[in-house]
Amino acid sequence: MVTANMLLMSLCQTQEYPKLYLNTSVIICFYNEDPSTLFRTVHSVLDQTPAELLHEVLLVDDSSDGELLGNIHNEVEEFVGKNFPPKVQLLKTMKREGLIRARIFGAKKATGQVLIFLDSHCEVNREWVQPLIARIQENRTFVVTPIIDIINSDTFQYTSSPLVRGGFNWGLHFKWDSLPDDTLKTNEDFVKPILSPTMAGGLFAIEREYFFDIGEYDAGMNVWGGENLEISFRIWMCGGRLEIIPCSRVGHVFRRRRPYGSPNGEDTMTYNSLRAAHVWLDDYIEHFFHVRPDARHVSYGDVGPRQRLRRLMKCQSFDWYLKNVYPELTVPGKESNQTAKKETIGKLQSRRKYHKKNYVATYQIKLSGSRLCVESDKEVTSKGSTLLLSVCSRTKKQLWSVTDKGEMVLAQMLCMESPESSKQKPRLSKCHEMGGLQEWKHHDDIDTPVYNIAAGLCLGISSSGIKDFANPNLDNTPVIMTVCTDTSAAKWDFVKIP
Ligand code: UDP
Ligand code: MN
Repeated sequence: MVTANMLLMSLCQTQEYPKLYLNTSVIICFYNEDPSTLFRTVHSVLDQTPAELLHEVLLVDDSSDGELLGNIHNEVEEFVGKNFPPKVQLLKTMKREGLIRARIFGAKKATGQVLIFLDSHCEVNREWVQPLIARIQENRTFVVTPIIDIINSDTFQYTSSPLVRGGFNWGLHFKWDSLPDDTLKTNEDFVKPILSPTMAGGLFAIEREYFFDIGEYDAGMNVWGGENLEISFRIWMCGGRLEIIPCSRVGHVFRRRRPYGSPNGEDTMTYNSLRAAHVWLDDYIEHFFHVRPDARHVSYGDVGPRQRLRRLMKCQSFDWYLKNVYPELTVPGKESNQTAKKETIGKLQSRRKYHKKNYVATYQIKLSGSRLCVESDKEVTSKGSTLLLSVCSRTKKQLWSVTDKGEMVLAQMLCMESPESSKQKPRLSKCHEMGGLQEWKHHDDIDTPVYNIAAGLCLGISSSGIKDFANPNLDNTPVIMTVCTDTSAAKWDFVKIP
């Protein structure tokens, strides 16, 4: 069988690029990264990038202070001096800045014509840089990202990712969306740039001066989170464009947990998202507060300078962005004109009147830290179906409506039912409205266990699947019931479908 990825590979190999005259500064920030992983990243950049296109590699140590790994800075310094050419330079921030200010720090030291940001645990693939530079040469306001392939965090095995693009939900969480219908019709469509409403985060290329022209990053953001959506909104709303270049591929190690917190335990994702929301969302900020009522009274520092920047650059409204860049996003209370949505959410809503059930909300149930969601193995009407993980997409098979009785009803048809012992698997059954094995307890946000009181067990994934949890190509991992304290008891994100 010829898969989309095989087709892509052969098409990319025959691509011809114009003469490339822009060189690059690759900026890699790290904080308590295992040095061997960092060196791996640098080696791949040196091996896979034509020397004349690689102006420098800037390693920015964000004042690593981990005790487990010894003195990281000294180890990196010594290794860089001995093993890498002079164009690889090690820099260090004065104090821990967080990835946003660390990237700005690196960008200010860079002298190449194109900045390429990478995480410290990547492996760039063959011909990764040429298509990125070629696209920026066409237009300096194009900000481009590679396809982010998956490196297994246990085995470092490299697997390719499907063709998807970046979106977000009203909780201001980044998510992958499938491509709009009809995007991939001809062979050329597979190698053409894909317009993307948002970027995932750490991996992108941007012309150096353009990065500063459009306001680099919001330096008021701390440690981690939200900066990817902020820069995405800004690029689109202020005259640029964000694209995924399918022939450029970079592997990234998806970790289950980040090996760090924020210095004072602050929830930087919320803080940073609030800053982005107050600067860019206009009245749509109310949709954010609707799903995050807790965030309404959280402080977010001074965004005055960022709001002035937006005025100065005469950027478009968020309404414009939604209409022109991300019409697929459902705006609560507004009719969606998307056929795909009519298929799923619309149908669910119309069916609602025939049921007496009291639905609280509809979710995708995503394995935390992965791109995989709980899906039925057969049709949503098929009683006895078991559950498995599959790349998150808004198909009926992944839309779980939660009722006021704690039921989880797939496509508002059948209930998730726990077996009585962990020897059997959870299945879809006719809803009986009597609680018991159909009653589930969970929080409706991220990182929650999913507990069945009657069975005394939690939703988990079979342990053979755990190792590959971030790998969307190794989907089909069965969902099982397990003792809640067991390692196979998973944490899940309840991703609300607006
Ligand atoms: N990073 C940093 N300072 C921090 C936190 C992270 O320089 O305070 C670096 C980190 O080492 C990595 C990049 O920023 O190279 C992105 O962070 P991470 O990989 O943890 O984010 P994720 O990929 O999990 O979203
Ligand atoms: Mn990372």
